[in-house]
Formats: sequence, C-alpha cells, structure tokens
Amino acid sequence: MRTKRAAVLTAVAALALGLTACGDDAGEETGSGGSDKSFAAGSTMERLNEAQAITIGTKFDQPGFGLKGLSGQPEGFDVEIAKIIASELGIPEDKIEWVEAPSKVREDVIVNETVDLVAATYTINPKRKERIAFAGPYYEAGQNIMVKKDDTSITGPDSFSDGTKKVCSVTGSTPAEEIKQYVKDVGSQLVLFDTYDKCRDALQGGQVDAVTTDNVILLGYIAKDEESFKLAGENFTKEPYGIGVQKDDTEFRDFVNDVLEAAFADGSWQQAWDDTAGTFGAELGTPPTIDRY
Ligand code: GLU
Repeated sequence: MRTKRAAVLTAVAALALGLTACGDDAGEETGSGGSDKSFAAGSTMERLNEAQAITIGTKFDQPGFGLKGLSGQPEGFDVEIAKIIASELGIPEDKIEWVEAPSKVREDVIVNETVDLVAATYTINPKRKERIAFAGPYYEAGQNIMVKKDDTSITGPDSFSDGTKKVCSVTGSTPAEEIKQYVKDVGSQLVLFDTYDKCRDALQGGQVDAVTTDNVILLGYIAKDEESFKLAGENFTKEPYGIGVQKDDTEFRDFVNDVLEAAFADGSWQQAWDDTAGTFGAELGTPPTIDRY
C-alpha cells in the first residue's frame, strides 16, 4: 500500500516536473545518480553523483567559516562554498557528511580518503601541494594577531621579540610557522593547540597574551565577543584559501575550479560571503584569479 502510494506520488511529481520515464540520454558519459547532471565516465564527479553522497572536511570551531552550533550542522563561508560544489555535483545539502578537519589533519584526511574534499580556511602553499592539490583560491586572508581589548603592549608581530609575551596558535597551521621568526624563544613563547577555540579560551583566561592566525578567523571571535578582544595591527602575510583534493585528481580539481569561477560570476560566491563571514566586517573584494597549475 505504502509502496503503491509512493509510486503514485513519484509519478505525479515526475509529471509536474515534465519528466518522462524513458530518458534517452543514458549514454556512457552520463551519471546515473538521482540528479540530471552528467559527468565523464570514471571521474570522481560521476562517482560522487552516483553515490548521491559526499564527505567534506571543514572546521567546527571558527565563526563565519565553519562553526558547528546548536543546529548540529557547521555554518560559515567555507561550508557555503562546499555546498555550492556539492550542488554542482547534483548532491543536495542533506546528503553531505561533514567531518571536522582541524589544521593539522587536513592533508591526512585527503590522502587517506576519509573525505572527498577539504574546505577549511586552507592556505594554498607549496609544502601542502607535495601531498595534496588545491582548487582555487576562492578568498585571500592574511595573518593577524588578536589580543585582549585593553591590551596596548602588542601592536604587531614585532611585539614578541623581547621574549616576554606568549602567543597561541594551532599545530599544523601556517600562522604557527610564520610567528616563529618573530618570537625570541619558541619554546616558552609559542603555545600550540589543535583548534583555535582553545587559543581563544587561553587568551580569555590569561594563559597567553595573544592569538595569531588569519584575520578573518580572529574577526569571527571578535564579533562574538567585542567586549573582550580586538585585532592588534595589520595583516602581515597573504593566505589564499583553496579547496583541498587528491593530488593526482586533475579532473576533479578542474571541475571545482570551474564551479568556483561560475560562483564568482553568478553572485553565489558573494551571497555566501554576505550570509556568513561578511557580517563580521571583513571585505570579500573582487574574485581572486583561479590558479590552474
Ligand atoms: N589559513 C591558515 C592555514 O591554512 C590558518 C588557518 C587554519 O589553521 O585553518 O594554516
């Protein structure tokens, strides 16, 4: 009875959409998943489309980019960009499995195929490209420093050179590496955690004097607690964000690059920003030039 009713409903829905039961486009190049998209046979795109499922690594602790809140689903700019990619694969939002990908594990979860892609404030750099590949960039951030609102002693990375101030960052991140050249003694001054929310808590609790990472991550924490925190100084690096994929999967990387370029052009990239990190006062700017290496 249930099955019959479901079949009738499906038929009605198909009629309403103007679909026919006997499609004539099921050629070799056509994905047979539950969507009208078709992809090259044997491609990652075809595999994901046919599975009608994708696993995506993102951050769970970064307001504006990837933050898992009460909804149980991560929210933010990276999450929206990943949803656009999934949608172009013909995969609906509710078929995305989100996996937390802290800075240190991002290459690992791509290489060991725990995830299909990573969208996680992920700076494109040559060292990471030895193990994985990047589509993008789709945004350019820059490293900055967050301090307590009433702090006047730290005004930029050079403020750590006298050896007295402690700065927190995250293991496996580019800012954790970069700040080493500014501190006098790495061992006593650089405190590393696996996620940025632990650094924020350490700053709040007075165990460290500053947190360093990308400006937009820090702006997310500041937006959540303007009474407590502020940025100290200007950005001092460039952090182009890419989508991490398998190193040898050029076809999939090209596909993601095409999706990003289309999102730049059709306004969905801007909309994703306006709905998320854009509410914290950072500028999106003009679309970056995709690096099809
Ligand atoms: N964008 C930098 C990186 O990829 C810092 C942010 C992060 O750790 O996610 O390392």
